[in-house]
Amino acid sequence: MTREVDAKDLRVVIIGAGMAGILSAIKLEEAGIGNFSIYEKADRLGGTWRENTYPGIACDVPSHLYSYSFAPNPDWSHQYSPGAEIQAYFERVAKQFGVDERIEFGQEINRCAFIDGRWHITTSAGIKDEADFIIAATGVLHHPSYPEIAGLEDFAGALFHSARWDHDVPLDGGRVGVIGNGSTGVQITAALAKRASKLSLFQRTPQWVMPQENPAYTEDEKQAFRAHPESLRALHEDISNLFAAGFANAVVDADSELMKGIEDQCLANLEENVSDPDLRERLRPDYRAACKRLVISPDFYEAIQKPTATLVTEEIERIEPGGVRTRDGHLHELDVLVLATGFKADRFVRPMEVIGRTGKRLDEAWADRPSAYLSISVPDLPNFFMLNGPNGPVGNFSLIEVAELQFGYIQQLIDQVRSGECRSLSASARATEDFDAARVEAAKKTIWTTGCRSWYLDDRGVPATWPWTFDRFREEMAEPDLAAYDFFD
Ligand code: NAP
Repeated sequence: MTREVDAKDLRVVIIGAGMAGILSAIKLEEAGIGNFSIYEKADRLGGTWRENTYPGIACDVPSHLYSYSFAPNPDWSHQYSPGAEIQAYFERVAKQFGVDERIEFGQEINRCAFIDGRWHITTSAGIKDEADFIIAATGVLHHPSYPEIAGLEDFAGALFHSARWDHDVPLDGGRVGVIGNGSTGVQITAALAKRASKLSLFQRTPQWVMPQENPAYTEDEKQAFRAHPESLRALHEDISNLFAAGFANAVVDADSELMKGIEDQCLANLEENVSDPDLRERLRPDYRAACKRLVISPDFYEAIQKPTATLVTEEIERIEPGGVRTRDGHLHELDVLVLATGFKADRFVRPMEVIGRTGKRLDEAWADRPSAYLSISVPDLPNFFMLNGPNGPVGNFSLIEVAELQFGYIQQLIDQVRSGECRSLSASARATEDFDAARVEAAKKTIWTTGCRSWYLDDRGVPATWPWTFDRFREEMAEPDLAAYDFFD
């Protein structure tokens, strides 16, 4: 016979106070599960938006989509709002819903062990806690990737990764180098080409660039949003559907007309907006658009054509105290060198030590590469659920929407315990293997496998991302297939 569990007898630990951790707290409270804590290793909430403060930072997902569905914001300044505004939004929402008071700042969880049906948690500061559930909201692009370039430590000027920006370093009138031209490097270049006396962008591989204007919302528009909150909800829904039917479908079908349309727009952007034929050829990629994560920018081409800007396509030989020496022998003299070289995208909850019910460590389970059933649950890690975990829809969607859908799914797993069906549950090994095999097969049709290097690809060259349509993701998240789970008492 099943016996219902009172919600107040369930304790949840949320790891991380970024977008997904804040969301989890709000949703748990709403579901009557008020006994939870959020552990955050930093001294401030915000995750990605706390860490990435580089000049030019903005989100290239429309702001009215990159907002919680339950907390629309009539005050977004632009269609694609700057990073500081997004950070302020999360701080405001966390305060509004009383989440900020539930965060244990400066507490990095370094160990979670499932012992006798509960999770035992230890933080680096020595705090111990126990919980029935863990929600890992630890982010995706979180661990900076530093390039292996000889002499990096010899540079005499200021050197930092784009996600560790040193705001004490003056930029105006200085000589700035940027290594990397992904979404980050392109935004930095566009922002700094008008401030630096000399801006050198070190490009290893050209990028396709989708032009996208970014109009500011007028006061009248914001007033109308405030007066009619339902119009904001409708806008959120409309943009979401546009994304799902457009870009999301295109990337998973490399041969589609939609994909061709996107490529045509990028090509026209290059042809029409870069006037110097030599520069145009050096900016022209030799792989398909959106194979790498598509770069979206209204002003990158304009910036790189400024007299202050130089596109360096010679290979970097080494870093010297005075700057970057390229293979042609030229020394690019610099005061500041920014590493916009991306992130280690395969870390997820690691380096945290996670020990499951059989005593096996997550690091062993993921020795080859990370995997999880529907990116949420790992076999033998009962009641341990990830938001934006391995192989989920990342890259070009609103990760807020992804996390909201995932949380709705996780909530239904928690309900299994609440209703007394089991004390804990995790995806079965069989379901996880089948899911992994299916996604690897489906990935062959996607644009990400058409011949380029990118952070989407795992060590085998298989895209580690959701290879189906966004509609399918929504359907999968609507209701768990409980046959895919092992139930434990
Ligand atoms: P990224 O896309 O991984 O780009 C890293 C860049 O560094 C690439 O240009 C890469 O060149 C270059 N690089 C790496 N190692 C190098 C080396 N040893 N020598 C020379 N060049 C090297 O990283 P990211 O630009 O930080 O972006 C990561 C992701 O964050 C994006 O794809 C996106 O999903 C997200 N993001 C989103 C936004 C937004 O607006 N929503 C903004 C920023 C970032 P290769 O291309 O040759 O590998």
